[in-house]
Amino acid sequence: MPNVDRSSRPARVLFAGALAVASLSVPATVRAQSAALTMAYDSARCPSCAEWNAPQAPLRLFANTYYVGTHGLTALLITSPEGHILIDGGLPNSAPLILKNIAALGFNARDIKIILNSHAHYDHAGGIAALQEVSGARVIASAASAPVIARGLPDHDDPQHGIAFPMPPVRNVDVLAAGEVVRLGPLSFTLHATGGHTPGGSTWTWRACEGARCLDFVYADSQSPISEDGFRFSDNTRYPTALADFERGHALLERISCDILITPHPAASSLWERARAAPEGFVDRDACKRYAAAARRALRARLERERIHDR
Ligand SMILES: [Zn+2]
Repeated sequence: MPNVDRSSRPARVLFAGALAVASLSVPATVRAQSAALTMAYDSARCPSCAEWNAPQAPLRLFANTYYVGTHGLTALLITSPEGHILIDGGLPNSAPLILKNIAALGFNARDIKIILNSHAHYDHAGGIAALQEVSGARVIASAASAPVIARGLPDHDDPQHGIAFPMPPVRNVDVLAAGEVVRLGPLSFTLHATGGHTPGGSTWTWRACEGARCLDFVYADSQSPISEDGFRFSDNTRYPTALADFERGHALLERISCDILITPHPAASSLWERARAAPEGFVDRDACKRYAAAARRALRARLERERIHDR
């Protein structure tokens, strides 16, 4: 889709007060930038944010792949001797928790060379600016997500445009086309276009090996058909390919090699239930198919509601 510059659009004033990003690990420039946005993910505006941002001890999923996110928002660290890759940054005020988790595992955030993103919403990309500031990492996203992350303002085409919060803008966001691969030393990550939830929604896949055993990770993007009031997935001019994008994502998740499924909201793929049987509990070769089936059901239900209520 075209990356139309809409920077002249006025930002919706959604916040009052300053965002608390209180950590010595987060540079003053980032704190000031966050405060300048007068963003406060407070309980009135974001009832789920506090729960999403609850602290979570980091855990090793398999081989070089670690969960370093908060309890409700995934961030993944994939390590190598030639530098690390981080996927997603949670909320702006998740960054200190993510940095603490990385340090607790014995890794140095300055070794993060690349930061990737699932989709350009404040709860998955909001912390990227702070994490980039600390690490100096390149940020890489899909063609539709990159300008949203760079501006820090919700995408006009996003079904949640009117209800998504702004986030600290990120410098130098590079674009990766769907199907292309990001490499860092021995690491390689493939971007798959799985939009619908947002126009630029991305699923990332990589292989992790421990000795002779290799497993295929799938970080499958959110598939929920959520929108602001008045938006219809079945019929709209703002994001007319939404249904086709959902279909492409569901079909991909049904056929892809998937040993370990992780999702931006860990609860969406029962991560904490699986963690009780870790490490083998993380491995479930049918998880992506079930995730796709649940997404198809949710979309069918949404379209049925749109048909009945004509909204
Ligand atoms: Zn989202």
